[in-house]
Amino acid sequence: MALPPAQSKVLTFEDARRVVEEQAREISPNASEIVDLLPASGRVLAEAITADRDIPPFPRSTRDGYAVHAADLAVLPAKLTVVGEIKAGPQLGKAEPALNRGEAVSIMTGAPVPPGGDAVVMIEYTSLRGNCVEITKSTVKGENIVAQGAEAGCGSLLLDRGTKLNEAAIALAASVGKARLQVFVRPHIAVLTTGDEIVEIDAGIDRTQIRNSNSYSLAVQIQQAGAEPVLLPIAPDEPRRLRELIEHGLQSDLLLMTGGVSMGRYDLVEPVLVDMHAEFFFTGAKIQPGRPVVFGRIPGGARAPAREGISAPRAHKYFFGLPGNPLSTMVTFELFARPMLEALAGMTLRPLAFLHARLKSDIHAKTGLKRFLPAILSGEYENSQVELVAWQGSGDIAARSRSNCLIVLPPDREHIPAGDWVAVMPR
Ligand code: AMP
Ligand code: MG
Repeated sequence: MALPPAQSKVLTFEDARRVVEEQAREISPNASEIVDLLPASGRVLAEAITADRDIPPFPRSTRDGYAVHAADLAVLPAKLTVVGEIKAGPQLGKAEPALNRGEAVSIMTGAPVPPGGDAVVMIEYTSLRGNCVEITKSTVKGENIVAQGAEAGCGSLLLDRGTKLNEAAIALAASVGKARLQVFVRPHIAVLTTGDEIVEIDAGIDRTQIRNSNSYSLAVQIQQAGAEPVLLPIAPDEPRRLRELIEHGLQSDLLLMTGGVSMGRYDLVEPVLVDMHAEFFFTGAKIQPGRPVVFGRIPGGARAPAREGISAPRAHKYFFGLPGNPLSTMVTFELFARPMLEALAGMTLRPLAFLHARLKSDIHAKTGLKRFLPAILSGEYENSQVELVAWQGSGDIAARSRSNCLIVLPPDREHIPAGDWVAVMPR
């Protein structure tokens, strides 16, 4: 079966990324479901969460000390009459003391500042004799008080739809009494690895065969991105079976293929997709590792009806052909597939931002490709340093597992001297 190759469309990294983001913006997420608060961690909110009351619900003291009228401390030391004590929580039977000029109320952190009080003086600047407190430091209106509603007014938006729920978001939901949250159903991402030499990890193996590791790295990345991997059987370098498995993969929300996208005679992924009338957004990106990465979509997507674990029909099904070299697979997932997964998971798109660290030793590189090379980020506190790990190219999984980040090198610099700031992806 002779198949025509796809028309070559090789983009710069930034253009390829932009194209992915444009498509990601078009995606509508799956249906939503209601889950308990804690299992919602790492999921994506499908509802907006608003404040059920002012936060804080009363003017809150941020210190242990004395609530006062700031104007009473114009002349120091000031002597004020202590007319009561307020601790955090209900004032058990006691009426909340009001504060007149010349008076102070002993107050604890987290307690409501009484009416009339407009500042809190820290206990460290006071001494109590009988019911008289002497204060040695002046204050200004509002000091050590968070005004009622200053953090959020009742009814205001706290967490928007599309937020991935981290510990702060879960805490915020807890703080407004949300014991259950509406989150998006996780998308299903099909993983199809290709290659006659690839075998399952528990199969017998001969010298020329390679165990399938890419399905596993991808499955981990898919889970981390908030989606569910669906691992398909390994596809041989044979068009009929490859097509069958691609069609199966297109029943999921997104299809990730690895291998078979280079220029070799047995790289059949693109020709089979062309035969299936796929639209290609790009067939390569000017990056290393991962140059042969492919991104496209097929109109209509799955032909088979929706069933358990398989997603509802969509107008288009998107696919990535990720290069088979294990580091290329991992890197191209991060750079290009992740935003699509996150969009399918309902997350609001976020730009890819790099950190910076100082280069520990010189780098010499060929120009023309943007590089994402395995490296070790070390140093401490503000003195982060980064250094490439020795590697044997994009098949070297051991080198990648020794690394803890990727250095991002621009395509136009041949030599970067030690001490220069370089961009880093901390993974
Ligand atoms: P390909 O992209 O098909 O040309 O494959 C490039 C390299 O990656 C070859 O050395 C393959 O053996 C290797 N490779 C492809 N798929 C996998 C996989 N699933 N697991 C591990 N290595 C792979
Ligand atoms: Mg191959």
